Amino acid sequence: MKTQRIPQNGLLTVDRDRLWNSLMEQGKIGETDKGGLNRQALTDLDRQVRELFMKWGKEAGCEVSIDQIGNIFVRRPGVDNSLPPVMTGSHIDTQPTGGKFDGCFGVMAGLESIRRMNDLGIKTRAPVEVVAWTNEEGCRFPPCMMGSGVFTGEFELESTLAICDAGGISVGEALTKIGFAGEKPVPGHQVGAYFEAHIEQGPVLEDAEKTIGVVIGALGQKWFDLSIQGVESHAGPTPMSLRHDAGLVAAELITFVNRTALEYAPHGRGTVGCLDLFPGSRNVIPGQVNMTVDFRHLEADALDAMVTGLKVKIAELEELHGVQISLAPTADFAPLYFADKCVSYVRDAAEALGFGHMDIVSGAGHDAIFLAEKAPAGMIFVPCEGGISHNEMERADADDLAAGASVLLNALINAAGIEEAK
Ligand SMILES: [Zn+2]
Repeated sequence: MKTQRIPQNGLLTVDRDRLWNSLMEQGKIGETDKGGLNRQALTDLDRQVRELFMKWGKEAGCEVSIDQIGNIFVRRPGVDNSLPPVMTGSHIDTQPTGGKFDGCFGVMAGLESIRRMNDLGIKTRAPVEVVAWTNEEGCRFPPCMMGSGVFTGEFELESTLAICDAGGISVGEALTKIGFAGEKPVPGHQVGAYFEAHIEQGPVLEDAEKTIGVVIGALGQKWFDLSIQGVESHAGPTPMSLRHDAGLVAAELITFVNRTALEYAPHGRGTVGCLDLFPGSRNVIPGQVNMTVDFRHLEADALDAMVTGLKVKIAELEELHGVQISLAPTADFAPLYFADKCVSYVRDAAEALGFGHMDIVSGAGHDAIFLAEKAPAGMIFVPCEGGISHNEMERADADDLAAGASVLLNALINAAGIEEAK
């Protein structure tokens, strides 16, 4: 059997309205007054959307299975089912004030791709599988990307099942309660390639007026808790030259973090998201500040250099202001480049379909980042209005979503291989 890289008619597109209608229908489960979604992992609402996804998968002629962490796999058989499946998907859980597109788009785009292959009678060599990963958001049960983490062996099953929510209910109990404690063993089966379509969750595509983001990689992240110990004293009697002002040092560090990220443009990011001043009285010089630092970069060396720069700055500020500063790492994710082959499938499909596209990096975490450890992986971004996500106001355009799903469809077919038309 021969395979062809681009199907003979070259331009396969999805059914825009069917994709949109599916997104809107799943978006009724857990809909908020403001038109967003509150559908946290392993709740009864999560059960409802999981059942809807499985029903749609079965209606598309697929086999459905569930693994021990509740990941759902909808498999469209290939010509050669001994080959590992080409996989796509994302998540259908949401933040408490989430939108209808974050994650859901990737799962519905995968489903629409399968439906379209059915419409066109396409036979792929390898099976194609759509997955809904359990608890990507991590808001009820930390950490995020739980299902894909267990599937890839990044997280261990037993300890993950024991993680409890604020009400003391464990992941294991919640899975059993909603009927999704599956039997498929984890770490999971082999994957031929993995693609994930997702809204960008940032403003870059909209700003550049591009429809498709060809995701080349994901930023590495290093997070820290930073604590500054100065001396609190009276705002009046203490002259400026004799202060150990932890608040002032914090201000210097905030601008330093920002400047550092700018120096490492375009892929540098630096954020101080939390800041607590003690004692928090208007006429007392702050004696202590607790704050956070979040550095990101696409290159490991640059990320390391940003952290080294921060440490040098800390030593300077300790000397200058007579304060003590501690820096404790809280998270460390290495930067990631997606597989050239998968990136090319995405870029070539966007090009062939005539969609405006650009290379882009992911600044956020996604299931694809864990999957990239296990198989060649790639991602497709589409714009979301104003770059706003994790927000009930999250919006995306039906044409852009259809474009992203069409790119996904072609990437899946090319990666799975297609039986040459006779
Ligand atoms: Zn997401």
